[in-house]
Amino acid sequence: MFLEQWLHGVIRSGLENDPGPRARVQAGPAPGRAEVVRYQGALLARAVRYAAAHSSFYRDLFRKSGIRPEEIRGCADLGRLPFTRQEDVARAPYRFLCLSRAQIERVHTFVTSGTTGPRKKVFWTRGDLGRIVRFMAAGIGTVAGRQDVVHICLPDGPPYSQADLLGRGVAAVGARALVAGTGRSAPEHLEWIRRHGSTVLFGCAGPLYRLTRELEALCDPSRCGVRVLFLTAEYVPAARRRELERTWKCRVRTHYGLTEMGLGVAVECEAGHGYHFNEADLLLEIIDPVTLEPAAPGEEGELVFTTLNREAMPLLRYRTGDISRWIPGPCPCGARSLLRFDAVRKRRESIVTIGAGEEIHPTLFDDVLYALPGVLDYRVEVTRDGERPRLDFGIELLPKAGDTAHAIAARLHGHPLVRRLLHRGEMAPPGVSLLPPGALKTADRAKKLVVDRRDRLKARA
Ligand SMILES: [Zn+2]
Repeated sequence: MFLEQWLHGVIRSGLENDPGPRARVQAGPAPGRAEVVRYQGALLARAVRYAAAHSSFYRDLFRKSGIRPEEIRGCADLGRLPFTRQEDVARAPYRFLCLSRAQIERVHTFVTSGTTGPRKKVFWTRGDLGRIVRFMAAGIGTVAGRQDVVHICLPDGPPYSQADLLGRGVAAVGARALVAGTGRSAPEHLEWIRRHGSTVLFGCAGPLYRLTRELEALCDPSRCGVRVLFLTAEYVPAARRRELERTWKCRVRTHYGLTEMGLGVAVECEAGHGYHFNEADLLLEIIDPVTLEPAAPGEEGELVFTTLNREAMPLLRYRTGDISRWIPGPCPCGARSLLRFDAVRKRRESIVTIGAGEEIHPTLFDDVLYALPGVLDYRVEVTRDGERPRLDFGIELLPKAGDTAHAIAARLHGHPLVRRLLHRGEMAPPGVSLLPPGALKTADRAKKLVVDRRDRLKARA
């Protein structure tokens, strides 16, 4: 409900300060869905005119596709706009820029897929950064208030880095932010948590899980006073979430972010059923990645975002590659005017196909493997055994875990997809090797990939 109240507040103040939307929306005590859509439609019309006037990329794209910006008047016209692809941003980021370099306050340069994807640049003005902080405050405000100390396990960077922006959001809700960074050891984190009285830990799911396991060797985490773990950057399987909740005796909340869309995009609903997103600044569509038509409610599709207020670098119908689905129906949290989507478990470019079109993606085996409490992390590679493809798992176990490669392989044989492929003779039995401690330790936000080595192995053979 908190996010909904926040959105209503933004819409109301938008109505007071901005004559465009005010002309179309009647301010009331609590805007319903129709009012939210009318408000967003007015912002969309303005964003399209702005992009056409100031970005050479959109000027050319509209000319090529025969779009006249003044014809886009509301959300119902969104589908007429062409898509923006990630490659477009990677290839020529400066063509998206709507202002002079002097008006840019910060540039984020990053890679989103593994370490091999294209490097992208995203530009922000001071106003853009202010809106990012505003949503960070709304997101952290769903779990933290004035009495809280938020311990941030993200890389400690320069002004307007992700950790810094989050810290400003934390300060905006009256809580205290501590940027602990990612280079600290478990004893150092413990010392900080005790000294500063941290009540919320914020960080990437994988590294925080690893830290939890390391802390268990030093203390009883449930006695540290932490009430919330706020996890970001990757899908958190149910088994892992239960394990974290049990160990810390606290709530686990997750968040979905994307640098291009302002880092923070969506926050898990307080009722724990999907994600509400920043509808004050973003429109979301979910499309069938093949037909490019809207996915039916409840059906899987690709998330496509449109920025509504971006000054430096508007992005219209930006295809993220992330796959999710709308969750239809009223939300158990009571929100009446917010949309909701499911957790993102896979990305378009992280899907590898084997056998007769069976899809493998990096989190596919989470529920089976993380149900073994000794498994700290894993990676999957597709290799080959003669003519047949094979899945090779590299597993990192906890120091004292008793699991054997043999027992893990046996569990993997029980996975429905593995069973199906083995039964049809379309795959060799999976290989499992145990990796040394720390082999899969990462501090960065790069998303996991399934590495496909089949072609390379074939070339060598
Ligand atoms: Zn909800």
